[in-house]
Amino acid sequence: MSTTLRTLRLASSQRTALRAGPSHVLKLANNVRYNSAAATGQDPMTGERVQLPDIEVYGPLSVDPSATVFHYAHCLFEGLKAYRDTDGKVTMFRPDMNMKRMNTTAERIAMPTFNGEAMVELLKQLVSLDKSWIPDQPGYSLYLRPTMIGTQPALGIAPPRQALLFVICSPVGPYYPQGFKPVALYGTTEFTRASPGGIGAYKLGANYAAGVAAHKAATEKGYVQNLWLHGPEHYITEVGTMNAFVVFKKSDGSYELVTPPLDGLILPGVTRDSVLGLAREHQTGKINVPELSDKLVVSERSVTMGEVKAAAENGTLAEVFGAGTAAVISPVDRIGYLGKDIHIPTGPDGMGPVSRPLWKYLTGIQTGKIAHPWSVIV
Ligand code: PMP
Repeated sequence: MSTTLRTLRLASSQRTALRAGPSHVLKLANNVRYNSAAATGQDPMTGERVQLPDIEVYGPLSVDPSATVFHYAHCLFEGLKAYRDTDGKVTMFRPDMNMKRMNTTAERIAMPTFNGEAMVELLKQLVSLDKSWIPDQPGYSLYLRPTMIGTQPALGIAPPRQALLFVICSPVGPYYPQGFKPVALYGTTEFTRASPGGIGAYKLGANYAAGVAAHKAATEKGYVQNLWLHGPEHYITEVGTMNAFVVFKKSDGSYELVTPPLDGLILPGVTRDSVLGLAREHQTGKINVPELSDKLVVSERSVTMGEVKAAAENGTLAEVFGAGTAAVISPVDRIGYLGKDIHIPTGPDGMGPVSRPLWKYLTGIQTGKIAHPWSVIV
C-alpha cells in the first residue's frame, strides 16, 4: 500500500462543488472469479495471483476504450460521509448500508458483488489516511464516493467479467452554511425518473445522467429541483436526488410522517431509513427525540399530489422535505404543479415541526454528540 502523500490542497467547500481530490484513491480490480479468492490472493481456477486492494496516490485511471462502462453504462456508485466529532474522533455513518446498497445495485446490472464488511474495513483505511482532509469546522465532512465500473474490453452486451471498484473522497462543507433555505420544487409531468421493473431503486450512473436535462428544465422554470411523480395519479416518488417526506396534521393534533414505500421506484436511502427508524423509536417510546410530538404516526404509504394540494388548501399540510446524505434534511416551501404553485408551510428557521427535531437528533448522532451504533469509528 502506497502511503505517499501529495501536497494537500483543500478544495473550496461549496455545497455542490464536489471536487474529487484528496490525495488517495482506493482501488480494487476484480475479475468475477476473484470474489472467492480475496483471502488467498489466488484465482481459484487458474492459480494466478489476484490483484489485491490497493490505496494509491490520486490520479487518472487507464481504462480500455472498449470497456463496457463507456458503451453500456456499467457504472454504479455510492455516497457516504466521514465526520470528525468534537473529540477529534473520525466516524462514518452507517457504511454497511451503503455497501449493501452497492451490492444490490451491482446485482441489478449483473456486475460482480463483493464482501461489504471487508469493504468497510478498506474504507476505514482510506479515511484514516486522508482524515486530515476533514476540515476542523462544524458541519464539514469528508464525502466518500465508492464507484464500480465494467472494465472488460468487449463490444457485446453481457455481464462484464472484469470490473474496477474504486473509492475517491472530497471534503464537503455544510449544505446550508447560512441556516436552512427551503427549496422550490417543480412537480414534473414531462419527465419520469423511474418505472416499475426499471432501475430507479438502484444507484446506477444511468439514473443520474437521465435526470440532468430534466433538472435543467426545472431550473429554467425557476425551481431548484424536480419533484418526481409517477403514474396518472401523480404519486410522489422522490425529490431531486433525495427521498421525499410529507407531514400531515390530523384533527386530533397528531402528525403523520409519510414517505413512499420501497416499491421499486424509490432509492432506499440511508437517511430515509434513519429518519424512519428514529421516528418509529420515538413513537414507541424507545428513545425520546427532544421537541418531537408524542402524537406521531409513521407511514410508509403512497401519497399523491392531489392529497398534498388538498392538504395545503385546507391547512392540514404541516411540511414537505427531502432527505439524503448531502443535505440530511432539505425543507420545501413551494411546489410548481400543473401551472400553479402550491405553498408549503415552513417555520421561521425554514424547517417544520417534525423535520426540525429529527434533523437535530440525526446530526447529533453523525457528529458524535449522541452516542449511537450507527456511527462507525475509523
Ligand atoms: N434518492 C436518490 C435518487 C438519491 O440519489 C439519493 C442520494 N443517494 C437519495 C435518494 C438519498 O439516499 P441517501 O440517504 O442514502 O443519501
